[in-house]
Amino acid sequence: MINIGVLALQGAVREHVKALQAPDVNVVVVKKSEQLDQIDGLVFPGGESTTMRRLINKYGFYEPLKHFAEKGKPVFGTCAGAILMAKELVGHKEPHIAVMDITVERNAFGRQRESFETLLKVKGIGEDVEGIFIRAPIIRQAGEGVDVLAEYDGEIVAARQGPFLACSYHPELTDDFRMHQYFVKMVRESMEVPA
Ligand code: GLN
Repeated sequence: MINIGVLALQGAVREHVKALQAPDVNVVVVKKSEQLDQIDGLVFPGGESTTMRRLINKYGFYEPLKHFAEKGKPVFGTCAGAILMAKELVGHKEPHIAVMDITVERNAFGRQRESFETLLKVKGIGEDVEGIFIRAPIIRQAGEGVDVLAEYDGEIVAARQGPFLACSYHPELTDDFRMHQYFVKMVRESMEVPA
């Protein structure tokens, strides 16, 4: 059995819990930092990154989350969750949890495209992965060691760096759970003892 948490301070928590369900996965709704000790991987949901950050500070999650990621435990951020993971944010002096070498711009699709749904070609997953974009960020730059997994209109919308996975869209709001299955696989692989 593997234990995967969903950070439950704000945002689309229930949908992620549903998307992660699998026979060998125990999904943990994470409301206290002590729960991080019981999980093998963690999802940062979408929502509002500034609100989420405020709650991370308020409930003493900042250091424990940093520590969790620094140990190399897998983290998957969707939309606002990806903003939390970026080491650089366009127009902001300070990043949040800052674990991935990506530069992210918030609300970057502009007014006409504030929210839309599309099929994406995602490396290692499929050619027709459903993504819902809601006031979505764009990954403007990906550092060395970051694998770009998907682009939309020439812009990076999904990337992976070792144990860290980030996407601009909300796979949890669709019935297409392949992004989550991919993350579960990442978690499983991170737990395998090297031969
Ligand atoms: N625009 C939000 C932010 O900047 C993210 C939107 C989302 O998660 N759907 O935090």
